[in-house]
Amino acid sequence: MSYLAGNYKRRKLSFKKGRGSFLYSTDGKKYLDFLSGIAVNTLGHSNPKLIKALNLQAKKVWHVSNSFQIPEGEILAKKLVKRTFADKVIFVNSGAEANEAAIKIARRYFYSIGKPKKNRILCIKNSFHGRTLANIFASGSKKMTEGFGPKVSGFDHFKFSDLKSLKKKITKKTAAIFFETAMGESGIKVHSRKFLKQVKKICNQKNILLILDEVQCGIGRSGKFFAYEYANVKPDIVPIAKGIGGGFPIGAVLMSNKVSKCMIPGTHGSTYGGNPLAMVIGNVIMDEVFKKGFLKNVRKNSNYFLEQLLIIKKNYPHVIKEIRGIGLLIGIKVSVDLANFINKLTKNKLLTIRAAENVVRILPPLNVKKKEIDLALKIINKVCSEF
Ligand SMILES: *Cc1c(COP(=O)(O)O)cnc(C)c1O
Repeated sequence: MSYLAGNYKRRKLSFKKGRGSFLYSTDGKKYLDFLSGIAVNTLGHSNPKLIKALNLQAKKVWHVSNSFQIPEGEILAKKLVKRTFADKVIFVNSGAEANEAAIKIARRYFYSIGKPKKNRILCIKNSFHGRTLANIFASGSKKMTEGFGPKVSGFDHFKFSDLKSLKKKITKKTAAIFFETAMGESGIKVHSRKFLKQVKKICNQKNILLILDEVQCGIGRSGKFFAYEYANVKPDIVPIAKGIGGGFPIGAVLMSNKVSKCMIPGTHGSTYGGNPLAMVIGNVIMDEVFKKGFLKNVRKNSNYFLEQLLIIKKNYPHVIKEIRGIGLLIGIKVSVDLANFINKLTKNKLLTIRAAENVVRILPPLNVKKKEIDLALKIINKVCSEF
């Protein structure tokens, strides 16, 4: 019997500690954690630098509210701006909040330049942007919105990576095109660089803002700091969360100077957003991800992992349909029962998580070791042989 509401289907597993890429269960077993709290534990568990930063700040000041200057947040914002397209940052606490703020900023921008009717947001059908009311209707997913009407209006939808479908849905009222640079929850689907470039071109031609949700694929997960860098396009607004906190809840919206100007005092706010405790942690993550060789190593490990998974796919064509992914955001599309496959991985001490389209999602910490990838491959191979 649990006093928690039943909105999650939880596995019968709990943990007493985590170290690096491993989790230790309360019943004394050691698991390879290749879901990282859903792309959150960028540096694995119990990273000494994160522990140190947290402990130091805990003895100084935790929270003061945004009525005051927060120097730790200024430092983190500067780091984010220096390394990306962005000129300004707003801190929040989660991915859904970051996306909500992104939608608000896009609408407010057109309002501020005298075009209040240019307020519709064009999203991908069956995408994922979080569980708030606006975001579930942005996702265009029947499953997520069922029973939560009345519908939040203002969202239109196009088909994944389909330029024709996108062009058809654009009107004079389209304020922003909003999608994940590489889609996580909805099945590890990566847009081609060409598609991203074409979308950006359309945005330029039609005075539409480009919002790229990098809540899951950002912060090095793709092998670049942001996945959009592969296509060399410049977005206007990028919501982030998950990986920037490494386990501490942090979200943020990055934006260009142009759109940031509309965000005058009173237009947005958050009680917790960007508090000193969160900010010192974000600073550690940024410093680690931008250490020389860190992102290169993510790409190297990704290449190795994907290459080896393709070999397993070749050996078990009746089990594995497709290998998908970018960086360490990896998907195995299976032809067998997904829950059964993930259960078998768990029984063999490898933790993963599902994504849409019958895909097993694999999200190791970004500082994962090659021998840990080898261990995961061995387990995946073994489980495939059981079908
Ligand atoms: C997880 C996720 C969100 C929602 O983030 P929360 O922190 O759970 O609110 C939004 N967008 C994408 C792409 C995500 O993966």
